[in-house]
Amino acid sequence: MRVKDEDTIAAISTPLGEGGIGIVRISGEKSFDIARRIFSPKSEIKNIKSRYLYLGQIIDPEEGYPIDEVLTAFFKAPNTYTREDMVEINCHGGMTAQRKILELTIRYGARVAEPGEFTKRAFLNGRIDLSQAEAVIDVIRSKTDRALVLANRQLAGGFSEKINSIRRDLLEIMAHIEANIDFPEDDIPETDPEIIKSEIIKSKGKIEELIKNTGSSKILREGISTLILGRTNVGKSSLLNALLREERAIVTDVPGTTRDIIEEYINIKGIPVKVIDTAGIRETSDLVEKIGVERAKRYLKEAEMVLLIMDASMEITDEDRNIFEMVKDKFTIGVINKVDLPAKIDEKEVKRLLPGKKVIKISALKEQGIEELKNEIYNSIVEQIGPIDENTIIAGQRQKQALEAARNSLERAMESMKVKMPVEIIEIDIREAWEKLGEITGDTVSDDIINAIFENFCIGK
Ligand code: GDP
Ligand code: ZN
Repeated sequence: MRVKDEDTIAAISTPLGEGGIGIVRISGEKSFDIARRIFSPKSEIKNIKSRYLYLGQIIDPEEGYPIDEVLTAFFKAPNTYTREDMVEINCHGGMTAQRKILELTIRYGARVAEPGEFTKRAFLNGRIDLSQAEAVIDVIRSKTDRALVLANRQLAGGFSEKINSIRRDLLEIMAHIEANIDFPEDDIPETDPEIIKSEIIKSKGKIEELIKNTGSSKILREGISTLILGRTNVGKSSLLNALLREERAIVTDVPGTTRDIIEEYINIKGIPVKVIDTAGIRETSDLVEKIGVERAKRYLKEAEMVLLIMDASMEITDEDRNIFEMVKDKFTIGVINKVDLPAKIDEKEVKRLLPGKKVIKISALKEQGIEELKNEIYNSIVEQIGPIDENTIIAGQRQKQALEAARNSLERAMESMKVKMPVEIIEIDIREAWEKLGEITGDTVSDDIINAIFENFCIGK
């Protein structure tokens, strides 16, 4: 049993800074009392109605002056985000009003919430499990609509259900084994090892299926970093602009004078592709030319994919050949640009210099072939990470490792069975798998892990 925190917590739940509205959230036993002390409704409240917006003012009881005109909602436990009594005060978006209201809640008995503490309480109070709590972050940080849909499915508990079903099967196998251990002399017929073995294989198969379906997680959550590489004037910046024109930029970094590189997210069929280009610095200052081969190599090393741009209107130069050499072992798509101009490039040589790599022809200027290029980017990624469909699970590193550990434990159990180890040994491995899966849902997980997970949340969530 985890010790329940009886404190009432409060936080500003909207982003810091000026906005249309701001929300101060309170959760815990004292939240209604605190709100009643500082909130002065326009018309008297006899019995608080849950989930109803009351118009009124926040008034500092000591000073007696109004802080802000607000809408206040009371949420009666247990049907709330945290399963505790909650209050949400919708005030004006200015920082001063929100801070002052937060201060008042603290004065009357709340404490400032830690990052993610509302969601942590939802977990500790049993409303959601750990994998659902982690999906909350994925929903907040989703970079594309597709990633959002998948994160929402996980939030609804789809992944947890699958984990729980495998855990129930493992428990059943352990029960069989224990029946054999506990009553060896009884007439209870010993469970056939073949049956136990086939049950283990079945569970292992299900876990492997889950592992496979998490293959695209990292890319869906964080995007795939893609370097646009090529010598000066081949059209790198033009391509980035063409891609950005078509797809809404998801995150736009402010181009700064000190930055020698630009990163933009584009959404390619739901995959967040982080494109890195040298646009924004003077046109002559090309990546390779300006920042030097060494740094270019470093960017190249960090990139997960390369778009290698060539100029169709020119013959291949030695500089091109150098760059071809650099991407030899890299996940690369060749892009022949400027196909609207008379062709001088030797395509056969390109193919020969880029063995095993796809080559697409485009005109960034005339916006020709951009759609084909995007299809190729998408297909190449999917080829590497597996399909992105309704079975896809967005799992974090922690969850993936737990799945792999569970699979490994079951593999050990099978090995032990093969060499006819005592059933007790086999049961240890199965129990380990059961525990590892429980780490995903939070049933068998240490407080340290829980704290580490919620530290990643924003304040007020
Ligand atoms: P970068 O140095 O690789 O970033 O190249 P830029 O994108 O700045 O383009 C260099 C020059 O090539 C510019 O004058 C562009 O207008 C031109 N350019 C880029 N793409 C095309 C294209 O598809 N066709 C033609 N005809 N010109 C292009
Ligand atoms: Zn450029």
